Amino acid sequence: MATEQRKFELCHSIPGRLRLKVKAIRHAEEEARALAFWLSRQAGIREATASPLTGSVILHYDPSTSPEDLFDLLNQALSDLPQLLATVPRPCPPPLEQLRTEEAPSLTWGLARVIGITAFLGVNLIRSVFLGTAFSPAVITGAAVVAAVPLWRRALVDIWNYRFIGLNPLLGTAAGLAIATAESLTALEVIWILEIGELLEEYVADRSRRAIKEILEVSAKNTYVLVDGVEVETPVDRVQPEDILAVHAMEKIPVDGVILEGEALVDQAHITGRSEPQFQKPGDLVFAGTIVQEGKLHLRAEKVGEATYLSQIICLVEQSLVNRPRAEKQVEMLAARLTRLGMAATVSTLILTRDLARAFAVLLVMACPCATILAASTAITAALANAADRLILIKGGLYLERFGEADCYCFDKTGTLTTGLPRVANIVPASPRVTSEQIVALAASAEAHNPHPLAQALVKAATDSGYPLATVSKSETFLGRGVRATMGAEVVTVGNRAFLVDQGFDLEGIRPQARKSAEAGQTVVYVAKNQELWGIVGFESEVREDLNSVLAQLRRSGVKELHLISGDTPKVVQSLAQSLGFDGSGDSLLPEEKAQYVDSLSAQGYTVAVIGDGVNDAPALSTASVGVAMGAGGSEAAVATADIALADDDLRKLVFVRQLSQQTRRVIRQNFWLAVTTDLLGSVLAVWGRLSPVLGGMLHVGHALAISANSARMLTWQPSARGKGAR
Ligand code: ADP
Ligand code: MG
Repeated sequence: MATEQRKFELCHSIPGRLRLKVKAIRHAEEEARALAFWLSRQAGIREATASPLTGSVILHYDPSTSPEDLFDLLNQALSDLPQLLATVPRPCPPPLEQLRTEEAPSLTWGLARVIGITAFLGVNLIRSVFLGTAFSPAVITGAAVVAAVPLWRRALVDIWNYRFIGLNPLLGTAAGLAIATAESLTALEVIWILEIGELLEEYVADRSRRAIKEILEVSAKNTYVLVDGVEVETPVDRVQPEDILAVHAMEKIPVDGVILEGEALVDQAHITGRSEPQFQKPGDLVFAGTIVQEGKLHLRAEKVGEATYLSQIICLVEQSLVNRPRAEKQVEMLAARLTRLGMAATVSTLILTRDLARAFAVLLVMACPCATILAASTAITAALANAADRLILIKGGLYLERFGEADCYCFDKTGTLTTGLPRVANIVPASPRVTSEQIVALAASAEAHNPHPLAQALVKAATDSGYPLATVSKSETFLGRGVRATMGAEVVTVGNRAFLVDQGFDLEGIRPQARKSAEAGQTVVYVAKNQELWGIVGFESEVREDLNSVLAQLRRSGVKELHLISGDTPKVVQSLAQSLGFDGSGDSLLPEEKAQYVDSLSAQGYTVAVIGDGVNDAPALSTASVGVAMGAGGSEAAVATADIALADDDLRKLVFVRQLSQQTRRVIRQNFWLAVTTDLLGSVLAVWGRLSPVLGGMLHVGHALAISANSARMLTWQPSARGKGAR
């Protein structure tokens, strides 16, 4: 490639390391990150860093790779930058990174506070009962002040952030007043109860978070890297792509990689959801976090650290905790209103009764909307953890909510309704000069690296029959249409009818055979070499088991419309849609058109859920109110675009998620009523003078606990035996 065409400048070069200036990433943080991410995953590159500040890229590469190749790679990446941006996963937002490290200390510290206050109150009680001499008022006041410090600190933080009317400022003021009016013991007791409540809430939230993380944790710390044939123990975070690792029986695989040597039974439950170990052999892909149960493997690391599939998922699940659903926001608004009401009630009680204790009790009951806030958040967190346990990754309560509310479900056909791999069922040569074998071998060579189910089916057909595959020097994918590959001097075109017609092929000659194939329900793909049509391949695919019952259950749970959206020909799509009882279908749709189809349904007022496999339906997945990716065990893109990802391709999980969503809504409603009724009852009692501040505090803690316990049920909730869920 000539230097003047380059989109970068070479600044510095030593063997194994290059420094380059790239204008396109200057001041463009996203682009820089995407570029570094993409480059670091290319063969030959060990590490890539890109700085948006200086617009420079540093590449550490294998000395065996030529810099010229790297320049080509870089040029290719830069001309495709917008596309790169779309495929690169986003990093976890910083607050969550902090969350990972900060949660533990706050729990221990909270526990210490509770123990401290409990001890003090205990000793005080023992002294007054057995010795008749409680601590002197000064000591109690001192203790109350010390105990109130964390509360006052939180209050100041709130006030600093303009949150004047909230739990902390109110209680802080109340505690201050109580201490000032020689009610220190009451203040201390109330703070004690509040601290216990806070600790318990924290504990429940922490448990749910931990539950999600534990499920997905990769905990291997060291692994063995082969250096000149010798196994060297190495920390996992030092492993680089392209390193060769040795993994022994009962060890965790620390990277995503390809098996070079050896065979093993690998427990992949975390990735694919299949509980029985899978037999893996050279050439197979293995994932970080899976465990070698028997045998020993040598594998080449492809993705390490944060780039592994598992890390991406953990990151997504953590992000899910910030995507808050509407229910939660509504509850919070309500809580704010309750707080204001509580303030008013407190002040009026004080004015009317002139009784500080009553006012304090009202304040404690009414102005602590924690329970109300907990009503939604605890239930949702628990539900997400429950789903994660079943390898369903829901990227936020928002999506859980929407999936339960959606009244129109659109299904992609190939790979979603049909099983992962179609079968080559029929091959028709266009002329006597080519044979079926040649057609399959040619098409498979062109599709060798394509993730499309049809492409993989071709490759499987060719390898199963032992046909050798030719090497492809260049291959272009036309999404939802087909591929065009260059092999030496030959150009091979494989794809659907519209695609080959566009490319100028005359398909009239083979039309009757193609129609016959389609009438038999086969997906027809045309294969051509240079300007000559070689023939057609008909694929049969099986509809997934349980599909009928899944669709029926979805309908029973309130789904009004079921649609089939596909890039396949009208005959195939319509007959499938009819046989499954769909309400509508779209055929011959390109990826963008699938998204338009979804848009038009939304425009009619439906809340649309799209279920796809991430292949040629990513735009539809992201246009939908909620997009669900199936069988995400393989496709990163699907997990990245979808709002809900099912790690395996069991469609029944759709029914589960819908029931989970509806159950969560029920639990939130229960929680909410629990919170509001006890609040009202408590405040009536308090105004009436029948509820002391301490009892008020207990009521507060009590219903917060009840709500947490009610929500915790969602952690292990499962639909009733017949799969219909709770009524
Ligand atoms: P679906 O919507 O049914 O999941 P796609 O949108 O993925 O299907 O593809 C639509 C049609 O485009 C397929 O039926 C096939 O004819 C053609 N096609 C897409 N990708 C390829 C490919 N890689 N090789 C051959 N044909 C393809
Ligand atoms: Mg598809």
